[in-house]
Amino acid sequence: MNATNLIDTEQRLGAHNYKPLDVVLTRGEGVYVWDTDGKRYLDCLSAYSAVNQGHCHPKIREAMIEQSARLTLTSRAFRNDQLAHFYEEVAALTGSHKVLPMNSGAEAVETAIKAVRKWGYEVKGVPEGKAEIIVCADNFHGRTLSIISFSTDPDARAGFGPYTPGFRIVPFGDADAFAAAINENTVAALIEPIQGEAGVIIPPAGYFTRVRELCTTNKVTLILDEIQTGLGRTGKMLAEEHEGIEADVTLIGKALSGGFYPVSAVLSNSEVLGVLKPGQHGSTFGGNPLACAVARAALRVLTEEGMIENAATMGEYFMDGLRSIRSNIVKDVRGRGLMMAVELEPEAGGARSYCYALKDLGLLAKDTHEHTIRLAPPLIITRAQVDWSVEQIARVLGT
Ligand SMILES: *Cc1c(COP(=O)(O)O)cnc(C)c1O
Repeated sequence: MNATNLIDTEQRLGAHNYKPLDVVLTRGEGVYVWDTDGKRYLDCLSAYSAVNQGHCHPKIREAMIEQSARLTLTSRAFRNDQLAHFYEEVAALTGSHKVLPMNSGAEAVETAIKAVRKWGYEVKGVPEGKAEIIVCADNFHGRTLSIISFSTDPDARAGFGPYTPGFRIVPFGDADAFAAAINENTVAALIEPIQGEAGVIIPPAGYFTRVRELCTTNKVTLILDEIQTGLGRTGKMLAEEHEGIEADVTLIGKALSGGFYPVSAVLSNSEVLGVLKPGQHGSTFGGNPLACAVARAALRVLTEEGMIENAATMGEYFMDGLRSIRSNIVKDVRGRGLMMAVELEPEAGGARSYCYALKDLGLLAKDTHEHTIRLAPPLIITRAQVDWSVEQIARVLGT
């Protein structure tokens, strides 16, 4: 089948819950992907930051092939010889005390919600059924029913009720509103350090310091969803490091496997994960030896190959380049590390047509929230590749 046939077949047989750019990819290596016609693109989305390490990283691939020939799945009915190493390495790299492995990001979020509710009843003493969790407007935490119950995006939420109760929504970045939402039944706050899907929204300086203080004072568990911001994307292992705070519970996923396999984890610095006893939570695939081996390699190359430092320096360099573009249609350029966004003026008529123009020039990026182009290349991007990318973006957006 050629690209047109493949697209037609997808349209005919698949559910239309996505509207991808019409580029059919067949191969990836490092920052590059190739389509079925052999055209090369620089990937500035990195599968929503799941391939921070670059496409098909050889060391992660090697770990996957090796482990897949030995043992892939035991279920948690038995132990496997990869899980302990995975725990040890994740805990060391993120400064955590306890780890609970899951698969998709949404499952990690669900796990955290279950754990903090139980913690609220058993440890904090919240009356049964009254637990509240504070979340932020314009959040993105995944697609399960409980998660979309507290989404403020009509596309994500409408038509899927009845909804899971127990969530209180406050504006992102507003510490006073956060303080006002806390009551004696508040068990947790669930927040993204930077709102990615909302268009790379960075909260005002001092916001998280205040949120951290409020959580500590009021015995509220602070859960940071670092599924997109974590593992080097912002130029630090975890984005919380930019704020000088530590979450009680940290959620990671996406790049935890370098894009090879769904692997997520709930990391805890508190007593929260301790409330889960045998039989109260689980997953057939969570913590399987293949996932553990892949995740171990994915974490190892992040640090061994200096990807996090590169994200910091190349992120700054990329942003400088973007800011230097002379354009009538650019409203804002923002970002941290290699998590960046260019917001266009509404008169530009939406970001999607510009993403198509960039695609024609060999750069893949994704529009988000109508007017924003999100840019998040693999963390291995070089200076020359940033120069080239900025040049293409200038050609499309510049005057
Ligand atoms: C992608 C993402 C999720 C959901 O992860 P899935 O693996 O798609 O379930 C949750 N939170 C954030 C911040 C994300 O970016």
